[in-house]
Amino acid sequence: MLRKHIVILGGGFAGVEAAINLAKERYFKVTLISNRPYMYIYPTSIWVPTGESKFSSNLIPLKKLAERRNFNFLEEEVSEFFGTEKYLILSNGEKIDFDYGIVAIGAGKLKTKGSENTLSICSEPEEALDIQKRLELLIAKGSGKIAVGFGTNPKDKSAVRGGPGFELLFNIHNNLKRLGIRDSFELTLFSPNPVPGARMGKKPVAIMEKMFKSMNLKQRYGKRVKEFLEDGIIFDDDSKLDSDLIIYIPANGGHKNLLKSDLPLDDSGFVKINEFCEVQGFENIYAIGDVAKLEGPDWKAKQGHIAEVMAKNVAKNIVIQENVLPFKKESYIHHINILCVMDTGNGAAFLLRDDKRQILLPMPIFGHWLKKAWGLYFKWSKLGYIPRIPGM
Ligand SMILES: Cc1cc2nc3c(=O)[nH]c(=O)nc-3n(C[C@H](O)[C@H](O)[C@H](O)COP(=O)(O)OP(=O)(O)OC[C@H]3O[C@@H](n4cnc5c(N)ncnc54)[C@H](O)[C@@H]3O)c2cc1C
Repeated sequence: MLRKHIVILGGGFAGVEAAINLAKERYFKVTLISNRPYMYIYPTSIWVPTGESKFSSNLIPLKKLAERRNFNFLEEEVSEFFGTEKYLILSNGEKIDFDYGIVAIGAGKLKTKGSENTLSICSEPEEALDIQKRLELLIAKGSGKIAVGFGTNPKDKSAVRGGPGFELLFNIHNNLKRLGIRDSFELTLFSPNPVPGARMGKKPVAIMEKMFKSMNLKQRYGKRVKEFLEDGIIFDDDSKLDSDLIIYIPANGGHKNLLKSDLPLDDSGFVKINEFCEVQGFENIYAIGDVAKLEGPDWKAKQGHIAEVMAKNVAKNIVIQENVLPFKKESYIHHINILCVMDTGNGAAFLLRDDKRQILLPMPIFGHWLKKAWGLYFKWSKLGYIPRIPGM
């Protein structure tokens, strides 16, 4: 039997989950293409800068994953993608034809003047190691000013990534405290948003405010960054925040590789899809995860677990379509929520926002180890060494 060829672009949360689910159906040939040899587990990478987690502990080798889960893996960069004619071009010039195309290449980052003077935990994974080195130098010096912040995308509120900024700041605070040198450091969170974290709801924001006071963390809110300098940040009112180390999470935007494709993009450059993740105006072409334009409530956010829901749905919907099964296609919209265990270095807070609830539940000590345990579960269950817990 001629097997349908499904090509998945990207080996992150969305691409890997789609590949695992589709490869279970032996009548598909599934190929995952990623420009990295590993899947990077961003949620647990927050401990790399403070040295609490090794860089390598946050990687899942894609070659090994593909062998265990029965799909093909190509370590290549996709440089062009054409959904109408169903082919793509790799950066080595090779052309690949397919029957189904699933785009899961994550998001691009919005640029700010002087961003070469910043480091990020949300861009290239290796930058976490650069932050680690810079932190070690400041610790050796015994004092310093550290600014952690994130940008916004005025065209798409769901494209902001603030959570990891809070987590990193709390972890740096607790690390310096453990070393007995916290009082010699100034730690500041900056954001153009007047109330960062507001989409979590009022109660969680009030609790966070208390946490900031108790940790003596400074705030520079409601000002846009005009320029990053080597020794600080200039805001749009021309005020300056002096800083020896600037850790900045740019807002998400469209992906540069989509410039050479025929996919429909919104104003921010995200791929336009319907509730079944089908790319608008195309047949058998899907976009999932951070690369796609999300629909849903005003407070929605691009998150890993939403990327996985989209991936599972697409796998189901392709199976329904191929087998002409009498089932309704799955929509991702009613799965939209914000869910995270926000680590503080000595505990964590469980955060949940959905249509009905706005919860921030402090989880002292135990929460920190729970998130660590989740990281191990995530890795081993993806590799198929332990069973998946439904819904996780
Ligand atoms: C520090 C941090 C902490 C986070 N914590 C949480 C959390 O606690 N909970 C949560 O739900 N979410 C969290 N997130 C968000 C979550 O990581 C993202 O929503 C998720 O990674 C999106 O998955 P994705 O597959 O769409 O994109 P990605 O994970 O970014 O994967 C994209 C993949 O595509 C590949 N790629 C890109 N371009 C090409 C190309 N041209 N050719 C081939 N391959 C390509 C990349 O190498 C990568 O493998 C966090 C994010 C960060 C940065």
